[in-house]
Amino acid sequence: MYRSIRFLTFALAAGAALFAQAEKTLETDIVVVGAGASGTAASLAAAEQGAKVVLLEKQAVTGGTGAYSEGIFAVESSLQRAMNYTLSRDQAFKLIMEYSHWRANAKMVRAYVDKSADTIDWMAQHGVHFEQLTSNYPGGLYTWHIYKGRGAGWINAFQAKFAELGQPLYKETTAKSLIIEKGKVVGVVAENAKGEKLRIHSKAVVIATGGFLNNKEMMQKYTRFPDVMPIANKGKVGEGIQMAWSAGAAPEGLEVMASYRPGPVGESTTSHLGAAAKQPHLWLNPSGERFCDESVIFQWPFAGNALERQGGSMFVVFDKGSLDYMQTKGIDVGVGVMVPVTTKLDKFENDFQRGEKAGVAFRADTLEELAKKTGMPAASLKAEVQRYNVAYTERHDGMFAKDPKFLHPIQKAPFYAIKSVATSLGTLGGVKVSERFEAVDKQGRAIPGLYVIGNDAGGMYGDSYDLIMAGSTIGFAVNSGRISADSAVAYIKNLR
Ligand SMILES: Cc1cc2nc3c(=O)[nH]c(=O)nc-3n(C[C@H](O)[C@H](O)[C@H](O)COP(=O)(O)OP(=O)(O)OC[C@H]3O[C@@H](n4cnc5c(N)ncnc54)[C@H](O)[C@@H]3O)c2cc1C
Repeated sequence: MYRSIRFLTFALAAGAALFAQAEKTLETDIVVVGAGASGTAASLAAAEQGAKVVLLEKQAVTGGTGAYSEGIFAVESSLQRAMNYTLSRDQAFKLIMEYSHWRANAKMVRAYVDKSADTIDWMAQHGVHFEQLTSNYPGGLYTWHIYKGRGAGWINAFQAKFAELGQPLYKETTAKSLIIEKGKVVGVVAENAKGEKLRIHSKAVVIATGGFLNNKEMMQKYTRFPDVMPIANKGKVGEGIQMAWSAGAAPEGLEVMASYRPGPVGESTTSHLGAAAKQPHLWLNPSGERFCDESVIFQWPFAGNALERQGGSMFVVFDKGSLDYMQTKGIDVGVGVMVPVTTKLDKFENDFQRGEKAGVAFRADTLEELAKKTGMPAASLKAEVQRYNVAYTERHDGMFAKDPKFLHPIQKAPFYAIKSVATSLGTLGGVKVSERFEAVDKQGRAIPGLYVIGNDAGGMYGDSYDLIMAGSTIGFAVNSGRISADSAVAYIKNLR
Protein backbone atom coordinates (compact mmCIF):
# COMPACT_ATOMS: atom_id res chain seq x y z
CA MET A 1 0.00 0.00 0.00
CA TYR A 2 2.75 2.41 1.11
CA ARG A 3 4.79 1.49 -2.01
CA SER A 4 1.88 2.13 -4.34
CA ILE A 5 1.21 5.58 -2.76
CA ARG A 6 4.90 6.42 -3.15
CA PHE A 7 4.77 5.33 -6.78
CA LEU A 8 1.64 7.45 -7.39
CA THR A 9 3.29 10.50 -5.80
CA PHE A 10 6.34 9.97 -7.98
CA ALA A 11 4.24 9.54 -11.12
CA LEU A 12 2.26 12.74 -10.41
CA ALA A 13 5.46 14.71 -9.74
CA ALA A 14 7.04 13.39 -12.96
CA GLY A 15 3.86 14.28 -14.90
CA ALA A 16 3.85 17.81 -13.46
CA ALA A 17 7.53 18.28 -14.34
CA LEU A 18 6.87 17.09 -17.89
CA PHE A 19 3.89 19.46 -18.14
CA ALA A 20 6.02 22.38 -16.90
CA GLN A 21 8.70 21.47 -19.46
CA ALA A 22 6.08 21.42 -22.21
CA GLU A 23 5.19 25.08 -21.58
CA LYS A 24 7.18 27.55 -23.67
CA THR A 25 7.23 31.33 -23.19
CA LEU A 26 7.78 33.92 -25.89
CA GLU A 27 7.98 37.72 -26.00
CA THR A 28 6.85 39.79 -28.95
CA ASP A 29 5.13 43.06 -29.87
CA ILE A 30 2.01 41.68 -31.58
CA VAL A 31 0.41 38.25 -31.69
CA VAL A 32 -1.81 37.65 -34.73
CA VAL A 33 -4.22 34.75 -34.27
CA GLY A 34 -5.13 33.05 -37.58
CA ALA A 35 -3.01 32.88 -40.75
CA GLY A 36 -5.84 33.26 -43.25
CA ALA A 37 -6.57 36.28 -45.42
CA SER A 38 -6.94 38.95 -42.74
CA GLY A 39 -4.28 37.61 -40.35
CA THR A 40 -1.68 37.24 -43.11
CA ALA A 41 -2.29 40.82 -44.30
CA ALA A 42 -2.13 42.16 -40.72
CA SER A 43 1.10 40.27 -39.92
CA LEU A 44 2.99 41.40 -42.99
CA ALA A 45 1.78 45.00 -42.65
CA ALA A 46 2.83 45.14 -38.97
CA ALA A 47 6.20 43.47 -39.63
CA GLU A 48 6.90 45.96 -42.44
CA GLN A 49 6.49 48.74 -39.91
CA GLY A 50 9.17 47.22 -37.72
CA ALA A 51 6.98 45.41 -35.19
CA LYS A 52 7.96 41.97 -33.89
CA VAL A 53 5.07 39.66 -34.74
CA VAL A 54 4.13 36.07 -33.89
CA LEU A 55 1.55 34.54 -36.25
CA LEU A 56 -0.45 31.52 -35.06
CA GLU A 57 -2.36 29.08 -37.25
CA LYS A 58 -4.56 26.27 -36.01
CA GLN A 59 -4.35 24.11 -39.14
CA ALA A 60 -1.35 22.42 -40.79
CA VAL A 61 -2.11 24.38 -43.96
CA THR A 62 -2.45 28.16 -43.77
CA GLY A 63 -4.82 30.41 -45.74
CA GLY A 64 -8.21 29.59 -44.22
CA THR A 65 -11.02 30.17 -46.72
CA GLY A 66 -8.99 33.07 -48.05
CA ALA A 67 -6.98 30.44 -49.97
CA TYR A 68 -9.99 29.71 -52.20
CA SER A 69 -10.88 33.31 -53.02
CA GLU A 70 -10.73 34.67 -56.55
CA GLY A 71 -10.69 38.43 -56.22
CA ILE A 72 -10.82 41.49 -53.99
CA PHE A 73 -12.97 44.65 -53.72
CA ALA A 74 -11.48 48.08 -54.31
CA VAL A 75 -12.72 51.43 -55.51
CA GLU A 76 -10.72 54.20 -57.24
CA SER A 77 -7.92 51.65 -57.79
CA SER A 78 -5.19 52.11 -60.38
CA LEU A 79 -6.80 49.29 -62.41
CA GLN A 80 -10.19 51.05 -62.44
CA ARG A 81 -8.56 54.37 -63.37
CA ALA A 82 -6.75 52.72 -66.27
CA MET A 83 -10.11 51.42 -67.52
CA ASN A 84 -11.86 54.79 -67.12
CA TYR A 85 -14.15 53.21 -64.55
CA THR A 86 -15.31 56.11 -62.45
CA LEU A 87 -17.16 54.68 -59.44
CA SER A 88 -16.07 56.93 -56.58
CA ARG A 89 -15.32 56.20 -52.93
CA ASP A 90 -18.26 58.41 -51.93
CA GLN A 91 -20.63 56.48 -54.19
CA ALA A 92 -19.37 53.13 -52.90
CA PHE A 93 -19.69 54.24 -49.29
CA LYS A 94 -23.25 55.51 -49.80
CA LEU A 95 -24.34 52.33 -51.61
CA ILE A 96 -22.99 50.09 -48.85
CA MET A 97 -24.67 52.18 -46.15
CA GLU A 98 -27.98 52.39 -47.99
CA TYR A 99 -28.00 48.65 -48.69
CA SER A 100 -27.52 47.95 -44.98
CA HIS A 101 -30.22 50.53 -44.06
CA TRP A 102 -27.45 52.29 -42.12
CA ARG A 103 -27.15 49.30 -39.79
CA ALA A 104 -23.49 48.95 -40.85
CA ASN A 105 -20.77 50.74 -38.88
CA ALA A 106 -20.45 53.90 -41.01
CA LYS A 107 -17.01 55.07 -39.84
CA MET A 108 -15.60 51.57 -40.22
CA VAL A 109 -17.12 51.17 -43.71
CA ARG A 110 -15.60 54.52 -44.68
CA ALA A 111 -12.16 53.45 -43.42
CA TYR A 112 -12.40 50.20 -45.41
CA VAL A 113 -13.55 51.89 -48.63
CA ASP A 114 -10.86 54.60 -48.34
CA LYS A 115 -8.03 52.08 -47.80
CA SER A 116 -9.08 49.75 -50.62
CA ALA A 117 -7.31 51.38 -53.61
CA ASP A 118 -4.04 51.66 -51.72
CA THR A 119 -4.37 47.96 -50.84
CA ILE A 120 -4.42 47.01 -54.53
CA ASP A 121 -1.15 48.93 -55.02
CA TRP A 122 0.32 47.35 -51.86
CA MET A 123 -0.58 43.85 -53.08
CA ALA A 124 0.78 44.60 -56.56
CA GLN A 125 4.06 45.86 -55.02
CA HIS A 126 4.27 42.48 -53.29
CA GLY A 127 3.99 40.67 -56.62
CA VAL A 128 0.22 40.04 -56.89
CA HIS A 129 -0.84 40.02 -60.54
CA PHE A 130 -4.38 41.26 -61.15
CA GLU A 131 -5.77 39.54 -64.23
CA GLN A 132 -9.22 41.01 -64.59
CA LEU A 133 -11.61 43.62 -63.25
CA THR A 134 -15.21 42.45 -63.15
CA SER A 135 -18.50 42.33 -61.25
CA ASN A 136 -20.12 39.27 -59.70
CA TYR A 137 -23.49 39.48 -61.49
CA PRO A 138 -24.91 41.07 -64.66
CA GLY A 139 -25.24 44.82 -64.19
CA GLY A 140 -23.11 44.73 -61.02
CA LEU A 141 -20.37 47.22 -60.20
CA TYR A 142 -16.84 46.52 -61.37
CA THR A 143 -15.11 46.29 -58.00
CA TRP A 144 -13.87 42.69 -58.14
CA HIS A 145 -10.10 42.63 -58.83
CA ILE A 146 -9.32 39.03 -59.83
CA TYR A 147 -5.85 37.90 -58.82
CA LYS A 148 -3.72 35.19 -60.42
CA GLY A 149 -3.27 31.97 -58.41
CA ARG A 150 -6.38 32.47 -56.27
CA GLY A 151 -6.01 33.48 -52.63
CA ALA A 152 -3.54 30.72 -51.80
CA GLY A 153 -1.08 32.32 -54.25
CA TRP A 154 -0.77 35.66 -52.50
CA ILE A 155 -1.26 34.31 -48.97
CA ASN A 156 1.69 31.90 -49.35
CA ALA A 157 3.82 34.60 -50.98
CA PHE A 158 3.02 37.10 -48.18
CA GLN A 159 3.89 34.51 -45.54
CA ALA A 160 7.22 33.89 -47.28
CA LYS A 161 7.92 37.65 -47.08
CA PHE A 162 6.91 37.61 -43.43
CA ALA A 163 9.46 34.83 -42.83
CA GLU A 164 12.12 36.82 -44.75
CA LEU A 165 11.57 39.60 -42.22
CA GLY A 166 12.58 37.08 -39.56
CA GLN A 167 9.12 36.63 -38.09
CA PRO A 168 7.77 33.29 -36.85
CA LEU A 169 4.61 31.49 -37.99
CA TYR A 170 3.52 28.61 -35.76
CA LYS A 171 1.31 26.11 -37.61
CA GLU A 172 -0.97 23.60 -35.89
CA THR A 173 -0.99 25.96 -32.93
CA THR A 174 -4.39 26.98 -31.62
CA ALA A 175 -4.90 30.14 -29.57
CA LYS A 176 -6.91 29.20 -26.47
CA SER A 177 -7.13 32.31 -24.31
CA LEU A 178 -5.96 35.88 -23.90
CA ILE A 179 -3.57 37.10 -21.23
CA ILE A 180 -5.17 40.14 -19.64
CA GLU A 181 -3.42 42.32 -17.07
CA LYS A 182 -4.92 45.45 -15.49
CA GLY A 183 -7.58 45.64 -18.19
CA LYS A 184 -5.04 45.44 -21.04
CA VAL A 185 -4.67 42.54 -23.45
CA VAL A 186 -1.02 41.50 -23.20
CA GLY A 187 -0.72 38.14 -24.86
CA VAL A 188 -2.11 34.78 -25.86
CA VAL A 189 -1.96 31.26 -24.49
CA ALA A 190 -1.87 28.69 -27.29
CA GLU A 191 -1.48 24.94 -27.64
CA ASN A 192 0.15 22.97 -30.42
CA ALA A 193 -0.81 19.59 -31.93
CA LYS A 194 1.41 17.76 -29.41
CA GLY A 195 -0.47 19.37 -26.53
CA GLU A 196 2.43 21.69 -25.67
CA LYS A 197 1.52 25.09 -24.28
CA LEU A 198 2.86 28.36 -25.62
CA ARG A 199 2.58 31.53 -23.52
CA ILE A 200 3.19 34.53 -25.71
CA HIS A 201 3.57 37.86 -23.96
CA SER A 202 2.91 40.82 -26.23
CA LYS A 203 1.80 44.44 -26.27
CA ALA A 204 -1.14 43.84 -28.59
CA VAL A 205 -3.19 40.98 -30.03
CA VAL A 206 -4.98 40.84 -33.39
CA ILE A 207 -7.74 38.25 -33.66
CA ALA A 208 -8.34 36.85 -37.17
CA THR A 209 -9.86 33.39 -36.74
CA GLY A 210 -12.42 33.54 -39.56
CA GLY A 211 -15.78 33.22 -37.78
CA PHE A 212 -17.79 30.30 -36.39
CA LEU A 213 -19.43 28.42 -39.28
CA ASN A 214 -18.28 25.03 -37.92
CA ASN A 215 -19.58 25.63 -34.39
CA LYS A 216 -23.03 24.01 -34.30
CA GLU A 217 -23.96 25.50 -30.94
CA MET A 218 -23.08 29.07 -31.92
CA MET A 219 -24.77 28.64 -35.31
CA GLN A 220 -27.92 27.44 -33.53
CA LYS A 221 -27.84 30.30 -31.06
CA TYR A 222 -27.00 33.22 -33.33
CA THR A 223 -27.93 32.55 -36.97
CA ARG A 224 -31.24 32.30 -38.79
CA PHE A 225 -30.31 29.05 -40.54
CA PRO A 226 -27.87 26.87 -38.59
CA ASP A 227 -28.13 23.80 -40.84
CA VAL A 228 -26.40 25.38 -43.80
CA MET A 229 -23.68 23.32 -45.55
CA PRO A 230 -20.24 24.91 -44.99
CA ILE A 231 -18.11 25.40 -48.10
CA ALA A 232 -14.35 24.97 -47.54
CA ASN A 233 -14.54 26.02 -43.86
CA LYS A 234 -12.63 23.83 -41.42
CA GLY A 235 -12.28 24.18 -37.64
CA LYS A 236 -13.94 27.61 -37.59
CA VAL A 237 -15.43 27.33 -34.14
CA GLY A 238 -15.40 30.96 -33.05
CA GLU A 239 -12.47 30.74 -30.63
CA GLY A 240 -11.30 34.24 -31.53
CA ILE A 241 -14.74 35.75 -31.03
CA GLN A 242 -15.14 34.11 -27.65
CA MET A 243 -11.68 35.26 -26.54
CA ALA A 244 -12.57 38.85 -27.47
CA TRP A 245 -15.87 38.63 -25.57
CA SER A 246 -13.99 37.27 -22.55
CA ALA A 247 -11.95 40.50 -22.56
CA GLY A 248 -15.13 42.60 -22.45
CA ALA A 249 -15.70 43.20 -26.17
CA ALA A 250 -19.34 43.53 -27.27
CA PRO A 251 -20.98 41.23 -29.81
CA GLU A 252 -22.08 42.57 -33.21
CA GLY A 253 -23.61 41.17 -36.41
CA LEU A 254 -23.57 37.48 -35.50
CA GLU A 255 -26.67 36.71 -37.55
CA VAL A 256 -25.04 37.59 -40.87
CA MET A 257 -23.75 34.73 -43.00
CA ALA A 258 -22.24 34.68 -46.47
CA SER A 259 -25.00 32.55 -47.99
CA TYR A 260 -23.61 30.99 -51.15
CA ARG A 261 -25.09 29.42 -54.29
CA PRO A 262 -27.21 26.39 -53.31
CA GLY A 263 -25.68 23.19 -54.69
CA PRO A 264 -25.54 19.38 -54.47
CA VAL A 265 -23.79 17.86 -51.45
CA GLY A 266 -20.37 16.40 -52.24
CA GLU A 267 -19.71 18.29 -55.50
CA SER A 268 -16.73 20.61 -55.89
CA THR A 269 -17.00 24.25 -57.02
CA THR A 270 -15.85 23.22 -60.52
CA SER A 271 -18.32 20.31 -60.97
CA HIS A 272 -20.55 20.49 -64.04
CA LEU A 273 -23.37 18.84 -62.06
CA GLY A 274 -23.00 21.68 -59.56
CA ALA A 275 -22.92 24.26 -62.37
CA ALA A 276 -26.14 22.81 -63.86
CA ALA A 277 -27.79 23.07 -60.43
CA LYS A 278 -26.75 26.73 -60.12
CA GLN A 279 -28.82 27.83 -63.14
CA PRO A 280 -32.22 29.55 -63.11
CA HIS A 281 -34.16 26.37 -63.98
CA LEU A 282 -37.37 25.46 -62.16
CA TRP A 283 -36.70 25.23 -58.40
CA LEU A 284 -39.10 23.15 -56.28
CA ASN A 285 -39.07 22.55 -52.55
CA PRO A 286 -39.42 18.95 -51.28
CA SER A 287 -43.22 19.38 -51.38
CA GLY A 288 -42.92 20.02 -55.11
CA GLU A 289 -43.76 23.73 -54.80
CA ARG A 290 -42.05 26.61 -56.53
CA PHE A 291 -40.94 29.35 -54.10
CA CYS A 292 -38.99 32.13 -55.85
CA ASP A 293 -37.82 33.78 -59.05
CA GLU A 294 -34.97 31.40 -59.81
CA SER A 295 -32.93 34.11 -61.55
CA VAL A 296 -32.16 35.29 -57.99
CA ILE A 297 -29.19 32.93 -58.44
CA PHE A 298 -27.39 35.79 -60.18
CA GLN A 299 -27.27 37.47 -56.75
CA TRP A 300 -26.57 34.19 -54.99
CA PRO A 301 -26.62 35.39 -51.35
CA PHE A 302 -30.30 36.18 -51.96
CA ALA A 303 -30.87 32.71 -53.46
CA GLY A 304 -29.52 31.38 -50.16
CA ASN A 305 -31.96 33.57 -48.22
CA ALA A 306 -34.91 32.32 -50.31
CA LEU A 307 -33.93 28.67 -49.91
CA GLU A 308 -33.22 28.94 -46.20
CA ARG A 309 -36.86 30.11 -45.72
CA GLN A 310 -37.92 26.81 -47.35
CA GLY A 311 -35.94 24.66 -44.94
CA GLY A 312 -32.71 24.63 -46.94
CA SER A 313 -33.21 22.00 -49.63
CA MET A 314 -34.78 21.89 -53.09
CA PHE A 315 -34.81 20.12 -56.44
CA VAL A 316 -33.55 21.92 -59.53
CA VAL A 317 -35.71 20.58 -62.37
CA PHE A 318 -35.04 20.79 -66.13
CA ASP A 319 -35.46 18.74 -69.29
CA LYS A 320 -33.35 17.46 -72.17
CA GLY A 321 -33.94 20.76 -74.04
CA SER A 322 -32.32 22.79 -71.24
CA LEU A 323 -29.47 20.27 -70.96
CA ASP A 324 -28.82 20.64 -74.71
CA TYR A 325 -28.80 24.42 -74.24
CA MET A 326 -26.24 24.21 -71.39
CA GLN A 327 -24.07 21.84 -73.44
CA THR A 328 -24.16 23.67 -76.77
CA LYS A 329 -24.69 27.35 -75.92
CA GLY A 330 -23.18 27.22 -72.43
CA ILE A 331 -24.49 28.23 -69.02
CA ASP A 332 -26.24 31.56 -68.35
CA VAL A 333 -24.89 31.89 -64.81
CA GLY A 334 -21.19 31.35 -64.17
CA VAL A 335 -19.88 29.86 -60.94
CA GLY A 336 -17.56 32.79 -60.24
CA VAL A 337 -14.54 32.57 -62.49
CA MET A 338 -14.23 28.85 -61.64
CA VAL A 339 -16.90 27.74 -64.17
CA PRO A 340 -17.35 30.98 -66.13
CA VAL A 341 -20.60 32.07 -67.78
CA THR A 342 -21.09 30.44 -71.27
CA THR A 343 -19.04 27.37 -70.24
CA LYS A 344 -20.37 24.38 -72.19
CA LEU A 345 -21.10 21.60 -69.72
CA ASP A 346 -19.19 18.83 -71.46
CA LYS A 347 -18.43 17.02 -68.17
CA PHE A 348 -22.12 16.92 -67.22
CA GLU A 349 -22.76 13.22 -67.96
CA ASN A 350 -19.71 12.06 -66.04
CA ASP A 351 -20.51 14.30 -63.05
CA PHE A 352 -24.22 13.41 -63.24
CA GLN A 353 -23.50 9.69 -62.94
CA ARG A 354 -21.41 10.34 -59.84
CA GLY A 355 -24.28 12.41 -58.43
CA GLU A 356 -26.75 9.65 -59.26
CA LYS A 357 -24.70 7.16 -57.23
CA ALA A 358 -24.50 9.66 -54.36
CA GLY A 359 -28.30 10.09 -54.40
CA VAL A 360 -28.31 13.79 -55.38
CA ALA A 361 -29.02 13.53 -59.14
CA PHE A 362 -32.09 11.98 -60.75
CA ARG A 363 -33.14 11.25 -64.34
CA ALA A 364 -36.50 9.89 -65.53
CA ASP A 365 -38.52 9.46 -68.72
CA THR A 366 -41.71 10.78 -67.15
CA LEU A 367 -42.59 13.33 -64.47
CA GLU A 368 -44.33 10.58 -62.46
CA GLU A 369 -41.11 8.59 -62.41
CA LEU A 370 -39.11 11.72 -61.46
CA ALA A 371 -41.54 12.32 -58.58
CA LYS A 372 -41.07 8.75 -57.41
CA LYS A 373 -37.28 8.99 -57.55
CA THR A 374 -37.07 12.33 -55.75
CA GLY A 375 -39.91 11.86 -53.28
CA MET A 376 -41.76 14.99 -54.43
CA PRO A 377 -45.56 14.51 -54.58
CA ALA A 378 -46.35 13.74 -58.25
CA ALA A 379 -49.47 15.96 -58.30
CA SER A 380 -47.62 19.13 -57.20
CA LEU A 381 -44.62 18.43 -59.42
CA LYS A 382 -46.88 18.04 -62.47
CA ALA A 383 -49.00 21.09 -61.57
CA GLU A 384 -45.92 23.31 -61.09
CA VAL A 385 -44.37 22.11 -64.36
CA GLN A 386 -47.62 22.84 -66.15
CA ARG A 387 -47.84 26.37 -64.67
CA TYR A 388 -44.20 26.95 -65.56
CA ASN A 389 -44.77 25.84 -69.16
CA VAL A 390 -47.75 28.22 -69.41
CA ALA A 391 -45.55 31.07 -68.10
CA TYR A 392 -43.01 30.13 -70.79
CA THR A 393 -45.67 30.19 -73.55
CA GLU A 394 -47.18 33.47 -72.33
CA ARG A 395 -43.73 34.99 -71.71
CA HIS A 396 -44.95 36.12 -68.31
CA ASP A 397 -44.37 34.60 -64.86
CA GLY A 398 -47.45 35.82 -63.00
CA MET A 399 -46.19 34.42 -59.70
CA PHE A 400 -42.59 35.57 -59.24
CA ALA A 401 -42.07 37.91 -62.22
CA LYS A 402 -39.05 36.01 -63.52
CA ASP A 403 -37.40 37.58 -66.57
CA PRO A 404 -38.91 35.59 -69.54
CA LYS A 405 -35.36 35.21 -70.92
CA PHE A 406 -34.81 32.57 -68.24
CA LEU A 407 -38.10 30.71 -68.69
CA HIS A 408 -37.41 27.45 -70.55
CA PRO A 409 -40.10 24.79 -71.07
CA ILE A 410 -39.99 21.41 -69.35
CA GLN A 411 -41.33 19.13 -72.07
CA LYS A 412 -38.67 16.91 -73.55
CA ALA A 413 -37.63 13.65 -71.84
CA PRO A 414 -35.52 12.71 -70.08
CA PHE A 415 -36.35 14.97 -67.14
CA TYR A 416 -33.67 15.85 -64.61
CA ALA A 417 -33.69 16.86 -60.94
CA ILE A 418 -30.67 17.80 -58.83
CA LYS A 419 -31.02 17.98 -55.08
CA SER A 420 -29.48 21.22 -53.87
CA VAL A 421 -28.96 22.51 -50.37
CA ALA A 422 -28.30 25.89 -48.79
CA THR A 423 -24.59 26.57 -48.41
CA SER A 424 -22.39 29.21 -46.83
CA LEU A 425 -18.89 30.59 -47.31
CA GLY A 426 -18.65 31.75 -43.71
CA THR A 427 -20.15 33.78 -40.90
CA LEU A 428 -19.67 37.55 -41.11
CA GLY A 429 -19.87 38.98 -37.64
CA GLY A 430 -18.94 38.49 -34.02
CA VAL A 431 -17.18 41.37 -32.31
CA LYS A 432 -17.99 45.08 -32.29
CA VAL A 433 -15.03 47.14 -33.50
CA SER A 434 -14.09 50.76 -34.09
CA GLU A 435 -12.92 52.19 -37.43
CA ARG A 436 -9.39 51.40 -36.21
CA PHE A 437 -10.47 47.77 -35.70
CA GLU A 438 -10.01 47.99 -31.94
CA ALA A 439 -12.39 45.63 -30.15
CA VAL A 440 -14.86 47.83 -28.25
CA ASP A 441 -17.27 47.26 -25.40
CA LYS A 442 -21.02 48.02 -25.43
CA GLN A 443 -20.32 51.71 -24.82
CA GLY A 444 -17.84 51.83 -27.70
CA ARG A 445 -14.76 52.05 -25.43
CA ALA A 446 -11.69 50.31 -26.84
CA ILE A 447 -10.32 47.25 -25.04
CA PRO A 448 -6.63 48.30 -24.80
CA GLY A 449 -4.36 46.10 -26.91
CA LEU A 450 -7.09 44.09 -28.66
CA TYR A 451 -7.93 44.22 -32.38
CA VAL A 452 -10.42 42.07 -34.31
CA ILE A 453 -10.52 41.71 -38.10
CA GLY A 454 -11.97 39.75 -41.04
CA ASN A 455 -14.93 37.44 -40.46
CA ASP A 456 -14.58 37.83 -36.68
CA ALA A 457 -15.52 41.53 -36.84
CA GLY A 458 -19.14 42.71 -37.09
CA GLY A 459 -20.57 45.89 -38.58
CA MET A 460 -19.87 45.52 -42.30
CA TYR A 461 -23.35 44.30 -43.30
CA GLY A 462 -26.96 44.93 -42.32
CA ASP A 463 -28.91 41.69 -42.18
CA SER A 464 -27.62 40.00 -45.36
CA TYR A 465 -24.43 39.58 -47.28
CA ASP A 466 -24.66 40.96 -50.83
CA LEU A 467 -22.71 41.19 -54.09
CA ILE A 468 -23.28 44.86 -54.74
CA MET A 469 -19.58 45.52 -54.18
CA ALA A 470 -18.06 42.25 -55.44
CA GLY A 471 -15.03 40.98 -53.53
CA SER A 472 -16.20 42.62 -50.32
CA THR A 473 -15.39 39.83 -47.88
CA ILE A 474 -11.75 39.45 -48.94
CA GLY A 475 -11.64 43.21 -49.33
CA PHE A 476 -12.82 43.54 -45.75
CA ALA A 477 -10.35 40.89 -44.54
CA VAL A 478 -7.26 42.43 -46.16
CA ASN A 479 -8.15 46.06 -45.47
CA SER A 480 -9.20 45.40 -41.88
CA GLY A 481 -5.90 43.51 -41.50
CA ARG A 482 -3.83 46.42 -42.78
CA ILE A 483 -5.76 49.00 -40.75
CA SER A 484 -5.46 46.91 -37.56
CA ALA A 485 -1.70 46.69 -38.13
CA ASP A 486 -1.45 50.51 -38.41
CA SER A 487 -3.55 50.88 -35.25
CA ALA A 488 -1.65 48.29 -33.21
CA VAL A 489 1.74 49.72 -34.21
CA ALA A 490 0.60 53.24 -33.24
CA TYR A 491 -0.79 51.93 -29.92
CA ILE A 492 2.53 50.22 -29.11
CA LYS A 493 4.50 53.40 -29.92
CA ASN A 494 2.32 55.33 -27.46
CA LEU A 495 3.02 52.76 -24.74
CA ARG A 496 6.73 53.59 -24.86
C1 LIG B 1 -14.68 28.89 -51.97
C2 LIG B 1 -14.60 30.31 -51.48
C3 LIG B 1 -14.37 31.34 -52.38
C4 LIG B 1 -14.33 32.66 -51.93
N1 LIG B 1 -14.10 33.64 -52.85
C5 LIG B 1 -14.10 34.93 -52.45
C6 LIG B 1 -13.84 35.98 -53.38
O1 LIG B 1 -13.52 35.75 -54.54
N2 LIG B 1 -13.92 37.25 -52.93
C7 LIG B 1 -14.26 37.56 -51.63
O2 LIG B 1 -14.39 38.73 -51.30
N3 LIG B 1 -14.45 36.58 -50.71
C8 LIG B 1 -14.37 35.29 -51.08
N4 LIG B 1 -14.56 34.29 -50.16
C9 LIG B 1 -14.69 34.65 -48.73
C10 LIG B 1 -13.32 34.94 -48.11
O3 LIG B 1 -12.44 33.90 -48.43
C11 LIG B 1 -13.41 35.12 -46.59
O4 LIG B 1 -14.36 36.09 -46.30
C12 LIG B 1 -12.04 35.53 -46.00
O5 LIG B 1 -11.09 34.54 -46.24
C13 LIG B 1 -12.14 35.81 -44.52
O6 LIG B 1 -10.87 36.09 -44.03
P1 LIG B 1 -10.49 35.71 -42.51
O7 LIG B 1 -9.06 36.03 -42.33
O8 LIG B 1 -11.49 36.32 -41.61
O9 LIG B 1 -10.71 34.13 -42.44
P2 LIG B 1 -9.82 32.97 -43.09
O10 LIG B 1 -9.21 33.42 -44.35
O11 LIG B 1 -10.65 31.76 -43.15
O12 LIG B 1 -8.67 32.75 -42.00
C14 LIG B 1 -8.91 32.39 -40.66
C15 LIG B 1 -7.76 31.52 -40.17
O13 LIG B 1 -7.76 31.43 -38.75
C16 LIG B 1 -7.41 30.10 -38.37
N5 LIG B 1 -7.86 29.84 -36.99
C17 LIG B 1 -9.13 29.62 -36.57
N6 LIG B 1 -9.16 29.51 -35.23
C18 LIG B 1 -7.89 29.65 -34.79
C19 LIG B 1 -7.28 29.61 -33.50
N7 LIG B 1 -8.00 29.45 -32.39
N8 LIG B 1 -5.93 29.76 -33.43
C20 LIG B 1 -5.17 29.93 -34.55
N9 LIG B 1 -5.71 29.98 -35.80
C21 LIG B 1 -7.06 29.85 -35.91
C22 LIG B 1 -8.10 29.27 -39.42
O14 LIG B 1 -7.61 27.96 -39.47
C23 LIG B 1 -7.84 30.09 -40.69
O15 LIG B 1 -6.62 29.72 -41.30
C24 LIG B 1 -14.55 32.95 -50.57
C25 LIG B 1 -14.76 31.92 -49.65
C26 LIG B 1 -14.78 30.60 -50.10
C27 LIG B 1 -15.02 29.52 -49.10
